[in-house]
Parts: sequence; structure tokens; C-alpha cells
Amino acid sequence: MKNHTNKENKYDYDLVVIGGGPAGMTAAIYAQRANLKTVIIEKYIVGGKMIKTSEIENYPGYDYILGPELSEKMQKQVEKLQVEFVTDEVIKITDSENHKIKTVLLSSGDVLIAKGVIITTGSLERKIGIPGEEEYANRGVSNCAVCDGALFKNKIISVVGGGYAACEESLYLTRFTNKVNLIHRRDQFRADDKTVNKVKNNENINLITDHVVLKVLGAEDKKKVGKLEIQNIKTKEISEITTDALFPYIGSDPVTKFVKDLDICDSNGYIIVNDKCQTKIPGLYAAGDVIAKNLRQIVTAVNDGAIAAQYLINFIDNFNE
Ligand code: NAP
Repeated sequence: MKNHTNKENKYDYDLVVIGGGPAGMTAAIYAQRANLKTVIIEKYIVGGKMIKTSEIENYPGYDYILGPELSEKMQKQVEKLQVEFVTDEVIKITDSENHKIKTVLLSSGDVLIAKGVIITTGSLERKIGIPGEEEYANRGVSNCAVCDGALFKNKIISVVGGGYAACEESLYLTRFTNKVNLIHRRDQFRADDKTVNKVKNNENINLITDHVVLKVLGAEDKKKVGKLEIQNIKTKEISEITTDALFPYIGSDPVTKFVKDLDICDSNGYIIVNDKCQTKIPGLYAAGDVIAKNLRQIVTAVNDGAIAAQYLINFIDNFNE
């Protein structure tokens, strides 16, 4: 076990980036290019939500690119700069009184000392919270159409939600089947008109609006998903529909439990930053989907990552003087 707690003012890294999505990778590119010794700590797989996103059509430079492909391109660029990657989970961050020493505690027990930290942990898909959802996880219930869509070739697939993710992933799933149900609790969608019209005009998508899912029911053998119990929220009528899969895309919650002691989040758990992407703690920055903001896109995540890194570089330059 690597433990550096006894080191006095001796840093393992200039910068610890927590999270390896587009915001984190961009921050690392900017920092490493400015000669900051940088590490990215990622709990799962580098790429964040990009690796779970099918098609991307609004990232400049690519009129069409698959999420995993864009992620791989970013990762290669980061690796070329010799940024270190560590697979681990951050448990806690502490700050010294003069704000010049950040201590990052990992679940492995390792402790990293750095001059600055950028949090880019993004958000995790929300669960609907209905009976059967947990029970049939990975047996028909999935949060990743890119990963699991192909398992349901020519089957009936149901998606829940009315945002970009639900609309885009419904469209993606029509590659595998001509029977996609899109169940939304209202009849207005949050995605832009172009995307919504694509959904509405796709004859392989059956829109079930003004409905919520109440239960995930098993197939006859109870080994996999077989039906959904749904309710019309206007008439209160309850009915069942047959389905082989359920993909909930009902939004996400920020991954910020590990900073709850620092009092840097808003009431929804998103990190509050200023226009420099700095939290109220000097030397502690945040970027990407994890911060309190209105537009969560890959392009805004990379924007935040660049801003956070650039101002952190300035911060470190100043305290070195
Ligand atoms: P979102 O925009 O928050 O939409 C969540 C949807 O799920 C809403 O339509 C909401 O219904 C519905 N919903 C929430 N809780 C529900 C529940 N308990 N039961 C049933 N339905 C529920 O989430 P998202 O689509 O995952 O997108 C997250 C963020 O990423 C957004 O900021 C989005 O713009 C961004 N994003 C962008 C793109 C893109 O630009 N290409 C792609 C993916 C994601 P109501 O509408 O009734 O609230």
C-alpha cells in the first residue's frame, strides 16, 4: 500500500483529476501540456457516459461519431501525453489550512498528495425504483443500450423517459428490432425538435405517452423480463404490455457522496463552481456533468475541463512564487 501521509509538502502529483469522462480527460490534456504531473482516478472505465452513448451528432468536428469511438480518441490523446491512469475510487478529499496540499484518500487505502484537484465524476443513471427493476437487472433491465441492445435482436424493447437519452437510445435500438416502445409520463419531450421528430416519424417506435411503469414482471420462467405493468396517469387505468427488455433513461444523479463533508454542493448534490470552475475551496475545481449548470453535453464537459485546468494551472503558478 502506498501511503504518503507522513511526507511533508512533498507531492505525488501536481494535479489529481477524479473521473475519466470528457471533462476529466480534457482537464488532464490541458494540465499535462502545461507540465503539471497529472493522474486520472477512474472507478470504472475511462470515457464516462460517452461509452454508453450510441451516436453523437452534436460534437463539432464530427457530424456523426459513435460514443465509444470518440471516447477512445480522447483516451489515446491523453495516453500520448503520458498522463497516468489509476483505477480506484475516491473516498475523501481533505485540504490543508493554506490550501496548498490536497489529500485524496482512495478505497484501496492509498493516499495521494497533490497541489490541486479537479472533480469530474459526472452522474449515475437514476433508477425508476419500481418492483422488479433490481430483480431483473441484467436479465432484461439495463441502463446501457450500446452495451446490451444487441441482446434483444427482433425482440420487444421498452424505453422509459422523455429526454435526449430516451429519445436517442430508442432510435438506436431500432437497429435491432422493429418493436421499440417509448414510454413517457407526459406528451412533451425534453429533447430538441429534430430528435423528437425523428422518434415520432420512426414507424418502429411505438410512443406510449402519459404513462408510467409500475412494475417489471417476469416471463413465464421468471428468469427474465416478460411484461411491464403500466398506468395511464390521466385515466389511472392500469394495463400490461409484453416486453423482453426495459431500458430506463430517466436522468441521472451527481456522483458527489465523497465530498459531502466539504459543503460544496447544492441541494440536488451538484457541485457549485464559479466561472473559473472553482469551488469555494481554493485549488479544488469541478467540471462536467457533476457541476450545477443547465446544459450537460460532451461539448460543455470539455469546455469546463479546459477552464478548470487552466485556472488551476494559474493557481499553482501563484502559490509556487
Ligand atoms: P433528462 O433530460 O433529465 O430527462 C429525464 C426524463 O425522464 C424526463 O423526460 C423525465 O420526465 C423522465 N423521468 C424522470 N423521472 C422519471 C420517473 N421517475 N418516471 C418516469 N419518467 C421519469 O435526462 P437524460 O435524457 O438522461 O439527459 C441528462 C442530461 O444529459 C440532460 O441535460 C441532457 O440534455 C443531456 N444529454 C444530452 C444529449 C445530447 O444532447 N445529444 C444526449 C443525452 C443526454 P419529465 O420530462 O416529465 O420530467
